[in-house]
Amino acid sequence: MTSKLMNVFLEDINTRIKSSTQINQWRNTADAWFKEIPNKSRHTFISFDVIEFYPSISEKLLLSALKFAAGYTTITERDKAIILHTKKSILYNNGQPWGKKTSQNLFDVTMGCFDGAETCELVGAYILYQISKKYKNKFGLYRDDGLGALNATPRQVDNIKKDLCAIFGSHDLRILIEANRKIVNFLDVTLNLENGKYEPYTKPNTTITYVHKDSNHPPNIIKNIPLAINKRLSEISSDGNAFSKAVPIYQEALEKSGYQHKLEFSSPKAIPLKARNRQRKRNTIWYNPPYSNTVHTNIGKTFFKLIDEEFSTDHKLHKIFNRNIIKLSYSCMNNVKQAINSHNQKLLSLNHQETTNPGCNCRNKNTCPLPDNCLAKSVIYQASVTTTDNNKPVTTYVGLTENSFKTRYNLHKSTFNDISKRYSTELSSYIWELKESSTDYNIAWKILSHAKPYSKTAEIANYVVADPFH
Ligand SMILES: [Zn+2]
Repeated sequence: MTSKLMNVFLEDINTRIKSSTQINQWRNTADAWFKEIPNKSRHTFISFDVIEFYPSISEKLLLSALKFAAGYTTITERDKAIILHTKKSILYNNGQPWGKKTSQNLFDVTMGCFDGAETCELVGAYILYQISKKYKNKFGLYRDDGLGALNATPRQVDNIKKDLCAIFGSHDLRILIEANRKIVNFLDVTLNLENGKYEPYTKPNTTITYVHKDSNHPPNIIKNIPLAINKRLSEISSDGNAFSKAVPIYQEALEKSGYQHKLEFSSPKAIPLKARNRQRKRNTIWYNPPYSNTVHTNIGKTFFKLIDEEFSTDHKLHKIFNRNIIKLSYSCMNNVKQAINSHNQKLLSLNHQETTNPGCNCRNKNTCPLPDNCLAKSVIYQASVTTTDNNKPVTTYVGLTENSFKTRYNLHKSTFNDISKRYSTELSSYIWELKESSTDYNIAWKILSHAKPYSKTAEIANYVVADPFH
């Protein structure tokens, strides 16, 4: 299972927790929560942020969060093993692993990894739930940023601050707290308890840039950009004045990107709750062809015509392949910068291969898994398992490591000997199966190819294709 699927799985868990516990875990803004605060002028804010949230999540904490999540949804032992395993990843910076707090067991919630944000959210929900048990809905959390509003005496505020530190501290997390403020900038909104107003907030010295009107993007995306910005800015403005005050920099950015649209305040229409709930999820198959404005063929139209023709109403697969289920959404192609970067990476990694002759440092050269080459780095490798049981075909596993092959090999070996690591990889699961049925086996290792070193600008997907152990 790749991290990408894990992300969907974790997101589903998070959604279930949120709807069952009613905790204030925010996905974008806190303005809805702010509107509900009664007697705002008597309240003050307490804001906090969790220091180095991602890298500080320990295996123990994640396990506790999963145990908590299991109260709201089914999480099997195997799901758990996979979630923990996908965390055992390392982010590389110029070939060197980023510093990690818990490096001894390869445990790390990787920032930028597909499920990093979701993992943080899960752990956040778990801690927020503990806070909410004491303080109801007075506190909320968005990733590592927390906010609360309280009607309390300075002495009480002091105690609450200590209490919050203690709750996070019990999970080996540290927070920075600020209290007694009437106005805070939280995410993209400035919230004011004195007058109950809120308005869009942009960090000083930030340049706002939008996709240019003439850029190579599907027309409906371009058309929707100014409308979406207008809607968003209206939503986070308490009234027309707040809107006008914040809008000039956005207007300027829009004009710079070639748009004529004039930003105007429109009070957001309240969507009745009923209508919102009725939107049930339907099964959709997405077709995402790359978009380019130099292509004149209407790909979407041609595609749907094919669907109609090939899966006509009397076709037995029509139920699955029809216009109601298949949706089209264009994907954008890499821009020039990404193309250049990926090309450079490719050349550099070729260079890297030619100049290094890693060799072998095994004490007994006869037992070396990859004679003369076990110290090779950044490789995609394959393990072929043959057994004495003729009914079992040769089974192969492919893995990727940025470290030396030998380090990874030793890690694999440990998963074959330690039952608690049984589900670490598909390979170890299989080996344990063979062991249990007393089948003799042999594993042959080989290097399939040398991987590109990780690059932030190159497509992250390159890295995930061959997920280390799966
Ligand atoms: Zn060797």
